[in-house]
Amino acid sequence: MALARAVVLSWLLATAAAFAAVPTPESHFGHPIGADRQLLDWDKVVSYFYALARSSDKIRVAEYGRSAENRPLIAATIAAPETLRKLDRYREIQRRLADPRITSPAEAEAMFKEGKNIVLMTCSIHASEVASTHSAVEFAYRLITENNPRFQTILDNTILLLVPSLNPDGVDIVTRWYRSTLGTKFEGTNPPELYHKYAGHDNNRDWYIFSQPETRATISQLHNVWHPEIVYDVHQQGAYASRMFIPPWLDPAEPNVDPILLQEMNAVGASMAADLTAAGKPGIAIHAAYDFWSPSRHYQAFHGGLRILTESASALLATPLTVAPDQIDESALGYKPREKSWNYIEPWLGGVWKLRDIIDYQELAFESLLHNAAVNREDMLRNFYRVGRHQIERTSLNSGTAAEIVISKNQRDPGATRRMLQTLAFGAVEIMQNGDGDYVIPMRQPYSGYAKALMERQQYPNLLLYPGGPPQRPYDVTAHTLPLLFGVDVRFEDRPEYERLTPADLADPTPRAVYKASDTDAWKAANTAWSAGKPVWRNAAGDFAIVGQYALGWRSIKRPRIGLYKSWMADIDEGWTRWLFEQFGFAYTNLHNADVQAGNLRARFDSIVFPDEQPNAIENGHPSGTMPPEFTGGLGEKGAEAIREFARAGGTLVFLNRASEYGIEKFGVKAKNAVANVPAQEFYSPGSLLNARLDLRDPLTRGLPEAVAIWSESSPAWSTETEEAVAKYPDSGVLASGWLLGEKRIAGKVALIHARYGAGNLILFGMRPQYRAQSYLTFKLFFNALLLN
Ligand SMILES: [Zn+2]
Repeated sequence: MALARAVVLSWLLATAAAFAAVPTPESHFGHPIGADRQLLDWDKVVSYFYALARSSDKIRVAEYGRSAENRPLIAATIAAPETLRKLDRYREIQRRLADPRITSPAEAEAMFKEGKNIVLMTCSIHASEVASTHSAVEFAYRLITENNPRFQTILDNTILLLVPSLNPDGVDIVTRWYRSTLGTKFEGTNPPELYHKYAGHDNNRDWYIFSQPETRATISQLHNVWHPEIVYDVHQQGAYASRMFIPPWLDPAEPNVDPILLQEMNAVGASMAADLTAAGKPGIAIHAAYDFWSPSRHYQAFHGGLRILTESASALLATPLTVAPDQIDESALGYKPREKSWNYIEPWLGGVWKLRDIIDYQELAFESLLHNAAVNREDMLRNFYRVGRHQIERTSLNSGTAAEIVISKNQRDPGATRRMLQTLAFGAVEIMQNGDGDYVIPMRQPYSGYAKALMERQQYPNLLLYPGGPPQRPYDVTAHTLPLLFGVDVRFEDRPEYERLTPADLADPTPRAVYKASDTDAWKAANTAWSAGKPVWRNAAGDFAIVGQYALGWRSIKRPRIGLYKSWMADIDEGWTRWLFEQFGFAYTNLHNADVQAGNLRARFDSIVFPDEQPNAIENGHPSGTMPPEFTGGLGEKGAEAIREFARAGGTLVFLNRASEYGIEKFGVKAKNAVANVPAQEFYSPGSLLNARLDLRDPLTRGLPEAVAIWSESSPAWSTETEEAVAKYPDSGVLASGWLLGEKRIAGKVALIHARYGAGNLILFGMRPQYRAQSYLTFKLFFNALLLN
């Protein structure tokens, strides 16, 4: 007896000693988490998680990749110690359950009993949504130190993969900016730069194209290794309506998402809402604001798991915000912020709102989700397997009875075709090859719905706010048809003979001497040659000769010197344009307002690009008094005159999408935007792929086919009688994929103008030709514009 007591006593002492050694967040950061006017530095977040891992056997921490600016991406794995000792086994269970072709129902049944529910929680991908990194820090500490029954249930039944930030560069960008403005009248403003180097706020729109290092690392090291049953992505929304959004989602749901997952998201979300209400937190909105359409935000829902989102109301970064009752924003979608309703049961009608409030709501949501995952562990594993069975049993596509998607080996653009296949393969799609050498994507594979969603044309439903009323705005864009974006021909058929390809079969080819203008690889090859000091030739068809000598019909071309306008209004399209330049090897110089206004631009540049931005933002920038003076103002008349002088002297000005209206105004181009100020009831194209025809006589079209699909999003469409129209919408059948209201407004109108000014060129794109690193087909229109000189 005495001996037993001594053992217990020493065990208690050891336990107490271990817990005592776990550092509190306050001891590490020097202030309580969520204190007013305190934000976190990424290096201290990283060192805190490693300190937790050194002091507790319930948490492990590992770096799984690097950010765009080379900061460590880390994930904490939190579970009961005995679970952490067998992680390999639980990963193997996930691998087996994720592929019902290799796991019989009887084997699966045993795994439902043995396995753990895998929950991946990702924080602060949008870096100005600062709270969730704080919540991750504090919640991790609480989960491993607070001995309560709910936490014990969570630790025993789940494996939590906690990513304290998907965007560590942004954590530091926002924290640095916030500190530099503390105590000034600009405290709480957003920084005048993108909070992700290339993608800015679009970094959560990257999750089927995988262009950014954070996306690639997270998909390849966490999603595709652990196959989580739940991915919870933690966000913040505007400050003036609900305190937190939780699923159920609004319609529409992407039709390839399994119904079981949609039902489970409804159930888990409603349960989280109940727990927040039970904890005394008002202002919870469900079935509001956020739909479930674009797969860029929902990777896991196409890979067998739930995708949960919460959006908390924001403060002014870490500065408290007081919302007066008359400031409540009534434009919310799906509920009335001043009225009690089934999906907004306790309206929040104003008051003080702080970082600490956001953290309190988020930690309750974390706990609720995890507890639900723990108590429903076995059912959720069973449903995960069921979803996989639905995928491998898929025998027909919507378009007929074909069970395979075939991509002919003979494509106009082999480079874009290869990149499209690499992109699908990165998303765990199995790609085969048939006896003819064509590529085949069979529908009987675990992620057939994902492949199908990305390969077919979207038919977004015609949703109006009320009959005869304006369209209900989609949360993001409405089209994601990769064959249209990449300019690849595909067909749907049923010929079940093929062999599996490996990543090596899809590897980039070795460089060649001559490239067709239609080949996406051509521009990278040209830029690589230029970088090495080698000459490059082009012929009338636009083909490139990278080595060798003059032959008849080839002329030597020079590498373009490119200026890229960079607004202080942190323009995401500018970031994507930089990404594109770097991927394809174009050298460029960013030009701020003062650089443009300094003039003498023709001596330095051949082409100057204005990314998609409102004309007023280019002209005026941040109004004086809203930001520190060095970040206010736009190009003004001085800048406009400098670019007119540039064009007169033979330079090429390229205006993308909305920026084209700036070019039209400043250069007196004789073109009228047919959809300017047209109400949304009459014309609406919220991120869709539209059919257009090119005038192949224009050098901008080198390498492109006559019929193309272009990216339309707040895009002008012109009528013009005098200017050179390079792309036109057809007279009918304009929509290629997505959603379009009021086709007749743009039928027959112009989507690309090649105008002249002095000795120079003005290229006006009524589209986004370099849309989010995706539109490979129209990249070539943009690149041709850069090579006009
Ligand atoms: Zn967000």
